[in-house]
Amino acid sequence: MSTTTTEHISMFEQVLARFDVAANLLKVDDQTKEVLRNPQKTVIVSLPVVMDNGKVQVFQGYRIVHSTLLGPSKGGIRYAMDVDMDEVKALSAWMSFKCAIANLPYGGAKGGVTCDPRTMSVGELERLTRAYTRSMADVFGVDKDIPAPDMNTSGQEMAWIVDEFARVIGHLEPGVVTGKPIAIGGSKGREEATGRGVMVATLAALVKLGLDKNKVTAAVQGFGNVGQNAAKLIAAQGIKIVAISDHTAAYYCKEGIDLDKLTTYWASNKRTLIGYTAPNTVLISNEELITCDVDVLVPAATANQITADNAGSIKAKLIVEGANGPTTADADAILNDKKITVVPDVLANGGGVTVSYFEWVQNRAGHYWSLDEVNTRHDASMTDAFNHVWQASVEFGASMRSGAYIVALRKLDAAIKLKGKY
Ligand code: NAD
Repeated sequence: MSTTTTEHISMFEQVLARFDVAANLLKVDDQTKEVLRNPQKTVIVSLPVVMDNGKVQVFQGYRIVHSTLLGPSKGGIRYAMDVDMDEVKALSAWMSFKCAIANLPYGGAKGGVTCDPRTMSVGELERLTRAYTRSMADVFGVDKDIPAPDMNTSGQEMAWIVDEFARVIGHLEPGVVTGKPIAIGGSKGREEATGRGVMVATLAALVKLGLDKNKVTAAVQGFGNVGQNAAKLIAAQGIKIVAISDHTAAYYCKEGIDLDKLTTYWASNKRTLIGYTAPNTVLISNEELITCDVDVLVPAATANQITADNAGSIKAKLIVEGANGPTTADADAILNDKKITVVPDVLANGGGVTVSYFEWVQNRAGHYWSLDEVNTRHDASMTDAFNHVWQASVEFGASMRSGAYIVALRKLDAAIKLKGKY
């Protein structure tokens, strides 16, 4: 399957490019710009782990706290071979903006380990996760820095983290990490929260664009936590999902993909889509998925998928960014010229951190909410965030992406000024 070349694109440069546009529109001073261009804390650790063959392998782990201006820092942990400082730095800054846009009392952070989890056993992953937690025990804390799942990490890794952290500090602190399984203090609704937020943002944008949800089609890139939940929740609203992909295959079906059948196949096929067959369903390339004839495109897989090379061929009227950084900065102008509305990542995928915040609140209160309560609060919060960003983009005659950064910058700039300097 062909994918867009991503080698030479610095993710942190992508963040700064967007940040600069919004900072100039808002006319924030150089002091604020300088503070926000530099992460507050950067920690790099080497993690020796005994592998199943008895040999020690040393992994690199990262945690970058971009800011604690609005509260303890919050952000996921990613396991992948391409995890590096540049990527973690970019993702940590995005978390600061995302939490501010979602109106949460959190700063931003991100962590990662350079590893290939698909080739590791459960035991190896557990030992790696526990080693990472031990090394980061003085960084993490319920009022300091609160991790969560991201690409290739899930409730299982969060369970190991909460357990290892308890061993280090001598008592259980369930709120030190979110995205935990419900059995050990997770929140109802957290698993599907990011996809749910994508669905709420999609519906809100369709209303603004005057499009009838029952008459539009969508393509979703990615079939993991975000893509799968987003596809199902969007489809449940009457939107027809005609194309879907993962890293192994992409499919198109004019009548609509049978998501139940696809999920059953995926679960039985080592969580991959390769080899799926269904009536009227054709195999397409990842590039064709991005540019296929749909109203809504939901990139929910990985970064740098919409670039200056393919943005000009995109037919969707609306792009809702489930993934972090799926669009490169040089593609922004092309999408703007084509009058394609982009609901940016820092807004569109904020549902996950919003319900993570609810989990943290529930852990601290020792009182747990019903799924209905979680979803009602989530939907209201996402809708508010969407409307604030929309208003800012109208006020400044700018894209929703710039509108989102403006909403965040206003809050971060106010915090910098109120807290003062020394
Ligand atoms: P995941 O590991 O559960 O799933 C990733 C999916 O993307 C998989 O289906 C994988 O096969 C697919 N994929 C990877 N590369 C691809 C490619 N080149 N083309 C097509 N498909 C590809 O990860 P996730 O948690 O769903 O995260 C996806 C994105 O959403 C990431 O950018 C992540 O940072 C972001 N995000 C996740 C959350 C969350 O709560 N999980 C919250 C906010 C943002």
